[in-house]
Amino acid sequence: MKIFCEECGAANRPESTRCSLCNAKLPQYGSTPDYGKFDFSADPKPVKDKAPMTYLGWSLLETLCCCSPLAILAIVFGAQSAYAFKHKDYDKAERKSEAARKTVLWALVLAFILWIIIFASGVLDKV
Ligand SMILES: [Zn+2]
Repeated sequence: MKIFCEECGAANRPESTRCSLCNAKLPQYGSTPDYGKFDFSADPKPVKDKAPMTYLGWSLLETLCCCSPLAILAIVFGAQSAYAFKHKDYDKAERKSEAARKTVLWALVLAFILWIIIFASGVLDKV
Protein backbone atom coordinates (compact mmCIF):
# COMPACT_ATOMS: atom_id res chain seq x y z
CA MET A 1 0.00 0.00 0.00
CA LYS A 2 1.44 3.31 -1.07
CA ILE A 3 1.23 6.59 0.78
CA PHE A 4 0.17 9.54 -1.30
CA CYS A 5 1.67 12.92 -0.56
CA GLU A 6 -0.87 15.51 0.57
CA GLU A 7 1.19 18.29 -1.00
CA CYS A 8 1.98 17.04 -4.51
CA GLY A 9 0.08 13.74 -4.77
CA ALA A 10 3.16 11.65 -5.47
CA ALA A 11 3.03 7.96 -4.48
CA ASN A 12 5.57 7.06 -1.82
CA ARG A 13 6.74 3.83 -0.25
CA PRO A 14 4.71 2.93 2.86
CA GLU A 15 7.75 3.08 5.17
CA SER A 16 8.83 6.56 4.07
CA THR A 17 8.00 9.50 6.30
CA ARG A 18 8.83 12.23 3.81
CA CYS A 19 7.76 12.65 0.18
CA SER A 20 10.42 11.58 -2.30
CA LEU A 21 9.35 14.33 -4.69
CA CYS A 22 8.73 17.44 -2.59
CA ASN A 23 10.08 16.31 0.82
CA ALA A 24 6.80 17.20 2.56
CA LYS A 25 5.89 15.23 5.67
CA LEU A 26 3.72 12.23 4.72
CA PRO A 27 0.51 11.23 6.51
CA GLN A 28 1.12 8.14 8.61
CA TYR A 29 -0.91 4.96 8.39
CA GLY A 30 -4.06 5.13 10.53
CA SER A 31 -3.50 8.87 11.14
CA THR A 32 -2.03 8.15 14.56
CA PRO A 33 -0.12 10.85 16.40
CA ASP A 34 3.56 11.13 15.57
CA TYR A 35 5.37 8.38 17.47
CA GLY A 36 8.56 8.93 15.55
CA LYS A 37 9.57 6.24 13.09
CA PHE A 38 6.92 3.57 12.86
CA ASP A 39 8.35 0.16 12.01
CA PHE A 40 5.82 -1.48 9.71
CA SER A 41 7.81 -4.70 9.30
CA ALA A 42 7.80 -5.32 13.06
CA ASP A 43 4.02 -5.03 13.31
CA PRO A 44 2.11 -7.12 10.76
CA LYS A 45 -1.18 -5.98 12.28
CA PRO A 46 -1.29 -2.18 12.29
CA VAL A 47 -4.23 -0.77 14.22
CA LYS A 48 -7.15 0.00 11.96
CA ASP A 49 -9.69 2.66 12.79
CA LYS A 50 -12.16 1.78 10.06
CA ALA A 51 -14.32 -1.33 10.32
CA PRO A 52 -15.07 -3.31 7.16
CA MET A 53 -18.57 -3.04 5.76
CA THR A 54 -21.13 -5.20 7.58
CA TYR A 55 -23.93 -4.76 4.99
CA LEU A 56 -26.38 -4.91 7.89
CA GLY A 57 -28.66 -2.32 6.27
CA TRP A 58 -28.89 -4.34 3.08
CA SER A 59 -29.44 -7.66 4.80
CA LEU A 60 -32.11 -6.17 7.08
CA LEU A 61 -33.85 -4.63 4.07
CA GLU A 62 -33.76 -7.94 2.22
CA THR A 63 -35.07 -9.84 5.23
CA LEU A 64 -37.99 -7.45 5.63
CA CYS A 65 -38.84 -6.85 1.97
CA CYS A 66 -38.00 -10.10 0.23
CA CYS A 67 -38.39 -12.56 3.09
CA SER A 68 -35.14 -14.05 1.86
CA PRO A 69 -33.78 -16.61 4.36
CA LEU A 70 -30.28 -16.04 3.01
CA ALA A 71 -30.48 -12.43 4.14
CA ILE A 72 -30.70 -13.64 7.74
CA LEU A 73 -27.40 -15.44 7.17
CA ALA A 74 -25.96 -12.17 5.85
CA ILE A 75 -27.03 -10.45 9.08
CA VAL A 76 -25.16 -13.12 11.05
CA PHE A 77 -22.00 -12.61 8.96
CA GLY A 78 -22.28 -8.84 9.32
CA ALA A 79 -22.65 -9.11 13.09
CA GLN A 80 -19.68 -11.51 13.26
CA SER A 81 -17.61 -9.07 11.23
CA ALA A 82 -18.43 -6.18 13.58
CA TYR A 83 -17.70 -8.42 16.60
CA ALA A 84 -14.34 -9.56 15.19
CA PHE A 85 -13.34 -5.98 14.42
CA LYS A 86 -14.24 -4.89 17.94
CA HIS A 87 -11.89 -7.57 19.25
CA LYS A 88 -9.15 -6.46 16.83
CA ASP A 89 -9.37 -9.66 14.77
CA TYR A 90 -9.07 -7.73 11.52
CA ASP A 91 -8.49 -10.72 9.24
CA LYS A 92 -11.66 -12.37 10.47
CA ALA A 93 -13.54 -9.09 10.26
CA GLU A 94 -12.52 -8.75 6.60
CA ARG A 95 -13.47 -12.35 5.85
CA LYS A 96 -16.87 -12.05 7.50
CA SER A 97 -17.48 -8.75 5.74
CA GLU A 98 -16.73 -10.42 2.41
CA ALA A 99 -19.01 -13.32 3.32
CA ALA A 100 -21.78 -10.86 4.22
CA ARG A 101 -21.32 -9.04 0.90
CA LYS A 102 -21.59 -12.26 -1.12
CA THR A 103 -24.54 -13.50 0.90
CA VAL A 104 -26.38 -10.19 0.48
CA LEU A 105 -25.89 -10.43 -3.29
CA TRP A 106 -26.99 -14.07 -3.46
CA ALA A 107 -29.96 -13.37 -1.22
CA LEU A 108 -31.01 -10.63 -3.63
CA VAL A 109 -30.60 -12.90 -6.68
CA LEU A 110 -32.51 -15.76 -5.04
CA ALA A 111 -35.31 -13.49 -3.85
CA PHE A 112 -35.55 -12.07 -7.37
CA ILE A 113 -35.81 -15.56 -8.90
CA LEU A 114 -38.30 -16.59 -6.23
CA TRP A 115 -40.54 -13.61 -6.95
CA ILE A 116 -40.39 -14.26 -10.71
CA ILE A 117 -41.48 -17.85 -10.10
CA ILE A 118 -44.30 -16.67 -7.84
CA PHE A 119 -45.50 -14.14 -10.39
CA ALA A 120 -45.13 -16.55 -13.32
CA SER A 121 -46.97 -19.35 -11.54
CA GLY A 122 -50.01 -17.10 -11.15
CA VAL A 123 -50.34 -17.88 -7.45
CA LEU A 124 -50.99 -14.23 -6.72
CA ASP A 125 -53.91 -14.11 -9.18
CA LYS A 126 -55.85 -16.58 -7.08
CA VAL A 127 -55.43 -14.58 -3.87
ZN1 LIG B 1 5.09 15.51 -2.31
